[in-house]
Amino acid sequence: MKRKCLSALCALILTMTVTLPTARAGEDAASTGQTVLVGLAYGSSTLDGANLANDKGSGYRFGYLDDSRAFVPLGYTSETNISVVKTQNVWYGIDPQYSESLKCYSDSVSSDVAVGCWHVQLPTEAELGSFEEALALAQTVSGFPAYVGGGWQVRLGAYTTQEEAQAAAEAAGGTVVGTSSYGVSVVKTGSSDILFQFDAGAEQSLTVAPGLDDNVKATTYFRSNRYYGMFQFRRISGGDLTVCNAVDFEDYTECVISREMSRSWPVEALKAQAVASRCYYETRANRHGSQGFDICSTTHCQVYFGMANTGERTAQAVAETAGLRAWYNGKLAQTYYFSSDGGATENVRNVWIGGEEIPYLCGVIDPYEATISEKIPYWNHTQTFTGAEIAQILQNKKYNCATIVDFQITETTPTGNVKSIVFTDANGKTFPFTRESVRTTLGLYSMHYTVTKSGETTGGTYYTDGGGVITSMNGTYAIGGDGSTRKLSGNPYVITGDGVQYLPAPAGGTATGETVFTVTSSGWGHHVGMSQWGAYAMAQQGKTFDEILKFYYPGVEIY
Ligand SMILES: [Zn+2]
Repeated sequence: MKRKCLSALCALILTMTVTLPTARAGEDAASTGQTVLVGLAYGSSTLDGANLANDKGSGYRFGYLDDSRAFVPLGYTSETNISVVKTQNVWYGIDPQYSESLKCYSDSVSSDVAVGCWHVQLPTEAELGSFEEALALAQTVSGFPAYVGGGWQVRLGAYTTQEEAQAAAEAAGGTVVGTSSYGVSVVKTGSSDILFQFDAGAEQSLTVAPGLDDNVKATTYFRSNRYYGMFQFRRISGGDLTVCNAVDFEDYTECVISREMSRSWPVEALKAQAVASRCYYETRANRHGSQGFDICSTTHCQVYFGMANTGERTAQAVAETAGLRAWYNGKLAQTYYFSSDGGATENVRNVWIGGEEIPYLCGVIDPYEATISEKIPYWNHTQTFTGAEIAQILQNKKYNCATIVDFQITETTPTGNVKSIVFTDANGKTFPFTRESVRTTLGLYSMHYTVTKSGETTGGTYYTDGGGVITSMNGTYAIGGDGSTRKLSGNPYVITGDGVQYLPAPAGGTATGETVFTVTSSGWGHHVGMSQWGAYAMAQQGKTFDEILKFYYPGVEIY
């Protein structure tokens, strides 16, 4: 990395004349006032520096969130592209994965701008009482205002070595200050020009509220995605920056539903998703407390990429269900949801092991999805596995097995989903799986599936029925003694004098030597709770969002 010495007189031009309004930027009349902290960069993905670029609205306020998460403003800038860096030496370069027009930078590539952590702190004749007072003094010496331990200072420069800072301090008549555990500096992106420094210990973290005009609902780029709301930069235990989006709960909900469904979907489906997402958030809001935020932005909690996919209908869906949640016996419902059920959802206890019976998370037969099957991804999906491939998958999961020669569904649920399967290897050893693992073990899309086995013998015929020839059991039915019919899978059994065994292989076939299992599945996801494509289908048939929710979560009330 190329280290650049920085001039003590780094250009710092602050020509702001606005006064600090007391209202929070971005707050609007529809807001419920609840601020959600969503983790965007955290854990192993914390950052040395993070960049913001104004989308709607211009400039930024600096401050922190109080105990009730109200924004407490301290200072501001009219710059439209800013970067927040930890108070250690940080080197910057253009990151090719982000648009240069957005002036996004990262520390992760070869760099040509350094933001040093050594500064000169000027003595002040009287105590500085505000950002404005510190700024006024800073502008006379090309320095910057620093909020340190609850008071105001004026500092100069951003040197990468203590020696350089010492020389500058002697010239300017100040003292040298260096790196700190919890401090952050805000610079004009792509430069070493510090606009503001915040160092208030472990408890208070810099929060940046984009936009200086309260009449404009600000939106902001972070890593090429656009977000409503504010950004918080926390250094947990003195580490790199944990970046959170501090966003109004209803705005968060709109962003989530636009990602979970699509802004082109029927509005009643979007409204059902809005209610489900609100409850889902509420029942998960404590998972990341030790990391300083409520919920993460990945599938671990709820996928969130800001407002990229929002539109008129997502805004309408959130506004028309504002604050509504699903309840069961006075308790917030656990509103799990997934893509599509292929014909039936499933009782939570047939999917996830343990836990109590949850009456509204029961399996329901879904007649709706089939009406739009042509739209649904993986509605009719096949995946094939050789016996050797299944063995490899099991071996990777630490099962000691030989080539798999049989794959049987041993139990189905009352709604027709697979509950238990067993693999048999060439040595006759069996490997049973149940509940969610009937899907996840082989990485299938759904627990709604059938299995056919082929490859040992191909090309023969099972029967001739007066002119027709059947070469496969697919699409054939057995008639029971009571007149009921049941569709046969590819490997039906027959009862003989010796017991139960497979129907004999087709006559006249050719042995190929390799067993191939074909899994034909319908649906995508875990099958607990609301099917999103089912909600789409119901909405298309004129059902309302509360009818959709009450169908997939029987017994819940919406209020
Ligand atoms: Zn999470």
